[in-house]
Amino acid sequence: MTLGIYPGTFDPMTHGHADVIARSLHVVQQVVVAVAPNPRKAPLFDMKERVELAKIATKDLPGVVVEPFEGLLVEYVRRRGAQAIIRGLRAVSDFEHEFQMALLNRKLDKNLETMFLMASEEYSYLTSSMVKEVASVGGPLHDFLHPEVAERLKTQLRLTQS
Ligand code: ADP
Repeated sequence: MTLGIYPGTFDPMTHGHADVIARSLHVVQQVVVAVAPNPRKAPLFDMKERVELAKIATKDLPGVVVEPFEGLLVEYVRRRGAQAIIRGLRAVSDFEHEFQMALLNRKLDKNLETMFLMASEEYSYLTSSMVKEVASVGGPLHDFLHPEVAERLKTQLRLTQS
């Protein structure tokens, strides 16, 4: 069984993330979506909610497991017996940060591979932050999010704005 770990904040999971997962399933048999805490980004949804939303967004993809993850990624990958870390690349702007992280992880474990996948063109501009901005001013979300995730985002924003 080939296994890939897709770590990220997923605040919330977008069609861009889901597209990367679907593509990675052409290469590995199973993907673990590892939802990370990331206090640096001050997520809108807490960890439990982000796991739940990622499960909703991936429920039609066979071979996907979503779980929370904390600690050192390389250890988690080793513990899970995965073959690779999966990351998505959008425009050039993602590259430097992703490149640094991949090399750092390789320094921590020289046998660890990071696999970069590009989402479909229509999602190449899509970020969770942008989607939250659109939602906060009442814009349409159907091109960006699973309908249930979109509803949850609207509710969450109403709660935090009131
Ligand atoms: P992180 O905070 O770790 O960057 P994100 O949830 O923002 O977590 O993203 C997880 C991964 O998915 C990152 O590698 C990011 O570049 C990638 N990603 C996010 N959105 C897209 C998209 N629209 N197309 C391709 N990759 C994406």
